Amino acid sequence: RSSIVCGALNPAVDKRLHVPKLSIGSVQRATMQESTPGGKGLNVSRAAASLGAQVTATGFLGRDNGEWIQTSLYESRIEQDWLYVQGLTRMCLNLIDDSSGISTEILESGPVVKEEEAQEFFGRWEALSTPDEWMTLSGSLPKGLDDSYYAELIAISRSKGANIVLDTSGAALIQGIEAGPHTIKPNEEEFRQWTGADPRNRAAVQQLMSELVLKGVKVLIVSLGKEGCIAATAEGELWRAVPPAINAVNAVGSGDCFVAGWTVANARGFTVAQSLRLATAAGAANAMSSSTGMISMADTAKLSVLTQVERW
Ligand code: ATP
Repeated sequence: RSSIVCGALNPAVDKRLHVPKLSIGSVQRATMQESTPGGKGLNVSRAAASLGAQVTATGFLGRDNGEWIQTSLYESRIEQDWLYVQGLTRMCLNLIDDSSGISTEILESGPVVKEEEAQEFFGRWEALSTPDEWMTLSGSLPKGLDDSYYAELIAISRSKGANIVLDTSGAALIQGIEAGPHTIKPNEEEFRQWTGADPRNRAAVQQLMSELVLKGVKVLIVSLGKEGCIAATAEGELWRAVPPAINAVNAVGSGDCFVAGWTVANARGFTVAQSLRLATAAGAANAMSSSTGMISMADTAKLSVLTQVERW
């Protein structure tokens, strides 16, 4: 079985509460409630485990409610190696008004990671970084960590011969790139914010890739929602993958499932084309169901047959 390591530096408890009609300033009872471990890193972990990989999740977990997250992840067959920090793992609350279907989200920021904890985690990460291992880093950094934190983790992994898939935005992405992650996967909006260019412009993508190669980046992927994705490789190839038209119910977390598919495929030694196919199908499988970051191998396999992968 292929193994991967998923960095979930800022995990969350996703709590979903349904009320018949949301009204501010009144006491209401939930008609349906559900809590799941969340945050981008844990979405990737869960999706990768669903695709059959042996997954180890790691990051900072608030001591006060950490046990609940651990138990829940073990039920999803995810190995864990957390650094416990003081306080509560953040909660992301999603209030759903059943009369309109409108959802209102309130996101906590989570515990502040202290300097000693940030330093201690480097040792954990180094121990998990083994030659040819595939590792993901997803989402925003918790409070207390410098924007260069992902770059430092990437440097550690590279020195051990492990490969990093980096999915973040803003300063953490820009600094992370300097350390040479194997793959970066901005979505269209993140790509535009970062480069100011249109990801459908081949010349712009090629020019950018020629600069990324100098830093050690092997693959640039820009995910384009229902249009699929484009990819540029260090060998100068351009690829495009397009999922079949589906009935999209909830595409939140599709990027995380995409990253899971890409990383698992690479860990299994798949080619770029095969890996793009699995990643694109995993993203589409997520969009088909109402839950966030939960996919089945059967749906992904069906969609992967219908996904078009071609040189661009
Ligand atoms: P998120 O941040 O919510 O995790 P994202 O913005 O990073 O997502 P997207 O580009 O929206 O990622 O989607 C990732 C992949 O999921 C796409 O490349 C595509 O394969 C699939 N996907 C997303 N939305 C749809 C859709 N409506 N129909 C089919 N496939 C989709």
